[in-house]
Amino acid sequence: MKVAVNDIPPEGMTLSFSDAVAGPQDLGPQVEAVVRAPWAELRLERVGELVTAEGEYAAELVLTCSRCLGPLPLSLRGELEWAFRPLGQEDRDEVQLAGDDADLSFYEDGEVDLAQALRDELGLALPMAPLCSQDCPGLCPVCGKLVKPGESCCRRDDTDPRWAKLARLKK
Ligand SMILES: [Zn+2]
Ligand SMILES: [Zn+2]
Repeated sequence: MKVAVNDIPPEGMTLSFSDAVAGPQDLGPQVEAVVRAPWAELRLERVGELVTAEGEYAAELVLTCSRCLGPLPLSLRGELEWAFRPLGQEDRDEVQLAGDDADLSFYEDGEVDLAQALRDELGLALPMAPLCSQDCPGLCPVCGKLVKPGESCCRRDDTDPRWAKLARLKK
């Protein structure tokens, strides 16, 4: 979803879009599947070459649990506040107009890439190391199988009988 800066009228404009072509790899390494495409509803305004966007977004994803690698459904919803400047323009005066809270991005060829900005936003909103539950026991460090909650798989402190014999010999 790209919008030509010159198409934004002086009174601003409202639009919504969904990024139907966004795949898991576009959003982050911890994303396994996109259930409902990233969606946003935005109010666009323009002050000179500075473009501001405010609104909200939503997406439904399936993440991969960082411990057991199992699926973890996640609904995301949040507010957006973006500011875009033409690439190469480095003075910060205009950015102040957009407010300090806005995430600053750049645009090229007179077009603001809203879909890309949304992908970046989602990437930042995702947990770096998602867990399917806070007490996910993860995979057994010995045999690599999934450990059920509350159970232990191969106990690491189990004494191997051969070592026990060796220990006796040492004495
Ligand atoms: Zn897990
Ligand atoms: Zn095990």
